[in-house]
Amino acid sequence: MFSFLCHNRVSCFTHCCRELELALTPYDVLRLRLATGLSSTELHDRYIIEELDPEDVFPRYYLTMVDDGKASCVFVNARGCQIYRHRPGACRTYPLGRGTRREQDRVSEQFILLRETHCQGFQEKAVHTVESFMKSQELEPFNRFNDRLTAITQHPQIKEGKQLTDAQRTLYKLALYDLDSFRSQLNDKHIASPLDIPEGVFEDDERLLEFGLDFIEKQFFDR
Ligand code: SF4
Ligand code: SF4
Repeated sequence: MFSFLCHNRVSCFTHCCRELELALTPYDVLRLRLATGLSSTELHDRYIIEELDPEDVFPRYYLTMVDDGKASCVFVNARGCQIYRHRPGACRTYPLGRGTRREQDRVSEQFILLRETHCQGFQEKAVHTVESFMKSQELEPFNRFNDRLTAITQHPQIKEGKQLTDAQRTLYKLALYDLDSFRSQLNDKHIASPLDIPEGVFEDDERLLEFGLDFIEKQFFDR
């Protein structure tokens, strides 16, 4: 149980939308596309930074911060988050942090409470459990898709040291983080699918992302 409420009358309003490294998941990018009306390719060009550290197997994607002296999120202004309905999972989860781990064929979760001194939300009276807080922040689809991603990034073959080729990294970005290009390349047969493409999958982004996750698992691990 923890006491917490964030609203636009707290003295720290939007402080947590600055000076942060906001890692994006595939489902976050899907929702950012809905929030902005941009294609996934345009989103990458304007708002997303790709990083690949030498020790990383998979590339990471981060939301751009603005060079305004406060390293603010591109989507924050004095009124708050401009994409609130579609804000990323990490923004919804705060002040909790959710860690996941693949164990054989299931993904387990662990939570931490980030009790940061600048956050006035802890002075509020609203009481939550982890479950009630997750529900209030509509995190179910974020966590469901993120768990599928964990099953890939923590696949036993990855833990045993499997590395990706440059072509596989390109495919990873395409199938999970750039759905518009994935759709058109499948449609034009620029890439071959190792799986039958289910009917109607091109008309529904969530189904296309589910297919992208199946596609990557099949391509990388031949499960
Ligand atoms: S996406 Fe919205 S909630 Fe998340 S850091 Fe940016 S402005 Fe804040
Ligand atoms: S610091 Fe805490 S209370 Fe303040 S805006 Fe962020 S989440 Fe809300």
